[in-house]
Amino acid sequence: MAHFLNFINGKWVDSPQSIEVEDPATQIIIGTVACAKEAEVNQAVMAARACVDRGDLSKPRPAQRVSWLLRIADEILKLKAQGAPLLVAENGKTLSDAFAEFENAARYFQYYAGMADKIEGRSIPLGEDFIDFTIYEPLGVSAQIVPWNFPVDIAARSLAPALAAGNAVVIKSPELTPLAITLLAKACENAQLPVGAVNMICGYGHEAGTALVGHGEIDQIVFTGSVPTGQSILRAAADRALPCVMELGGKSAAVVFPDADLDVFIDSVDWGIFFNGGQVCSAMSRVLVHQDIHAQVVSQVTALAKQQVVGHGSESSTTLTPVSSLMQRNKVIELCAASVQQGAHIVTGGRAVDRLGYFVEPTIIDGVSPENDLFREEVFGPVLAITTFSTEEEAWQLANATDFGLVNGIFTNDLNIALRGAKALKCGQVFVNEWYAGGVETPFGGVKMSGYGREKGQEALYSYVQTKNVAIKLI
Ligand code: NAD
Repeated sequence: MAHFLNFINGKWVDSPQSIEVEDPATQIIIGTVACAKEAEVNQAVMAARACVDRGDLSKPRPAQRVSWLLRIADEILKLKAQGAPLLVAENGKTLSDAFAEFENAARYFQYYAGMADKIEGRSIPLGEDFIDFTIYEPLGVSAQIVPWNFPVDIAARSLAPALAAGNAVVIKSPELTPLAITLLAKACENAQLPVGAVNMICGYGHEAGTALVGHGEIDQIVFTGSVPTGQSILRAAADRALPCVMELGGKSAAVVFPDADLDVFIDSVDWGIFFNGGQVCSAMSRVLVHQDIHAQVVSQVTALAKQQVVGHGSESSTTLTPVSSLMQRNKVIELCAASVQQGAHIVTGGRAVDRLGYFVEPTIIDGVSPENDLFREEVFGPVLAITTFSTEEEAWQLANATDFGLVNGIFTNDLNIALRGAKALKCGQVFVNEWYAGGVETPFGGVKMSGYGREKGQEALYSYVQTKNVAIKLI
């Protein structure tokens, strides 16, 4: 059984204790990882600090960072055959999704390589006697905390723009899925980045995570994960007024109008709620359907749920993979049961699958009122909640009636409805006629309790710099 290490100051470093990693589909321990504590966190942060202080990333011409980022992308693609099976084993996802995750991770580095030499300030006219301009400077040491659902993708999403802007990074990998992500550090090592530019520590949130966010030498926190953890990190960040990027949860709705192309919609449901076992922060966890097509939509999504093939991610027939842990499975099942007590009814699913592993039946729950916990709380499982509306105004109001605001989707052939919805929906991204539309190029992030700051796209780069203004009086 393989044992995985921390990557600190250019070296692979063990910790006195280790964490066992379980395959959620078989409940078999598949590997162990170093369990970093305060001492290793301190070494990693100080290595990043030294790299920043030496100016290893910020002093060379930007073309050097372009070259490093492109090399990292190439190295990730070389390592994907080794990494994808690891990701399947620790996370449960399908092999094709695991390959796609590595490919997308490489794509972040290609995309931000294209920006690394175009971080240009502005010249601001102040009249005859002045020259004024702005400079974008790196923040310094970026502390990045990653969740378990897309560990490689999400780590790359923050690491690539942070490096492009000239920051050094300390990544805290997720304790449930810490294996495949180490190949991202390996790719940086193979790409011969300066020592200390990228450090990765493996450990528990309450130990390594708290030590990292409370460390006096970090200059930024980038967090992707749950709302309660995000709030506790923000409290730690407040002590030093640290800038943060917060990518928290979601309770996203697809709003389906009577004129929608239902084949297109059903394809999106397949992707929107069953992909990755429904464990996606921007999953389509609610469907708001017009009353005229309610019966038809319920029948079609139920048929889709019944077609799902539950299985191990390494089996090519599998379409629905397990949730990440026993705790997560119990939470999903409890939410389904509570929704029934609160007046909804389960059309199909709602139980654990009777087999080894943390599988949840593909679940459709109808009649979910806005008062129901299932309407408002994130599930992180293959559970679709259906609510009916009768007017367009009511649809937007229902979509906005949660504390979250990550994404929402609109299914219609009426451009006016789509554009009115795009304006009315309170969220960071609106999909029209395709769930998970967009990509590495499109800014992503939330409003309300879904967090703030943007990842992806050109916007994200500016999460990793600070603006300095230089105002010169000509004398
Ligand atoms: P989590 O908040 O429990 O853990 C996320 C990460 O934070 C892990 O690496 C964990 O070790 C670390 N952590 C935990 N406590 C910490 C602390 N006190 N200080 C510092 N670090 C700490 O979340 P999770 O269960 O791993 O992930 C699921 C949640 O993440 C869901 O709510 C989901 O919506 C959200 N999520 C959001 C996005 C997004 O981009 N918006 C993406 C994926 C997941």
